[in-house]
Amino acid sequence: MAEGKAGGVALVTGAGDPGGMGAAVARRFAKDGMAVGILDLNGGGAEAVAAEIRAAGGRAIGLAADVSDRAQVRAAVARLRTELGPVHVLVNNAAIEGWCAFEALTDEQWDAQMAVNLKGAFIATQEALPDMQAAGWGRIINISALGGQTGGVMDMTHYNASKGGMIAMTRSLAVGLGRQGITVNSVSPGFIDTPMARRAIEEDLFPMPWTDILAMYPIPRLGKAEDIAAACAFFASEEAGYITAQLLGVNGGATF
Ligand code: NAP
Repeated sequence: MAEGKAGGVALVTGAGDPGGMGAAVARRFAKDGMAVGILDLNGGGAEAVAAEIRAAGGRAIGLAADVSDRAQVRAAVARLRTELGPVHVLVNNAAIEGWCAFEALTDEQWDAQMAVNLKGAFIATQEALPDMQAAGWGRIINISALGGQTGGVMDMTHYNASKGGMIAMTRSLAVGLGRQGITVNSVSPGFIDTPMARRAIEEDLFPMPWTDILAMYPIPRLGKAEDIAAACAFFASEEAGYITAQLLGVNGGATF
């Protein structure tokens, strides 16, 4: 496929919250010339982000779907294909966060993390992949997490395990898809100022004051959703075509 990312179609999951990373990625992709499917559990939120992009001159549609539900994702991808065209770029961003003492963690809490964060990425990838294979060009970007690399905190073992799974999935897919013109990479956020992080701050869930955590980072501030969008824009670009199976930390230099 010659067109590369400009003029192509992207699907961003979990992009229906205007303050989240998914929406920032979608806005950035639209600015870069892509048409964007904004998928979210919150269909109204997804449509609102899409309407904002359209009002700014971009092309976007909102898609209501639960990423852990195969039929819903299949229907959303089919609608995206019909309305904007086949998918060239997929960003697996949808996730739920979980905090719980490991000793008290239930099977249900564990399963919920795996269903949304890991199985959701598996389902969306499987549903979008045929379009990329048909085009001989594609970009898959998995939003993992610093805790999936380092272990983070024990109260997030289930979340971190799901994110570690995404990192392994990124590498396995990259091994198989490189010969088909499809790259697979992961962007691993650190502490980013979004509704998810704000909820944890407000509920005071960290083992120490959150400002003390930030003070230990080489760049001692919260990251921005736009920082993640910039990394995704790079991996989605034509210029990143020789880069696959990589993990890019966008974390202010944090290593713990
Ligand atoms: P966020 O503001 O909570 O956004 C996550 C989005 O995913 C929300 O719009 C949410 O919709 C949606 N979502 C949740 N469950 C879904 C499902 N089953 N199907 C479809 N959509 C679903 O979080 P964020 O901070 O932007 O996080 C974006 C990504 O970065 C996530 O993968 C997260 O794990 C990762 N991350 C974040 C941080 C951080 O510091 N913020 C750090 C490391 C990694 P609803 O609002 O309707 O539930």
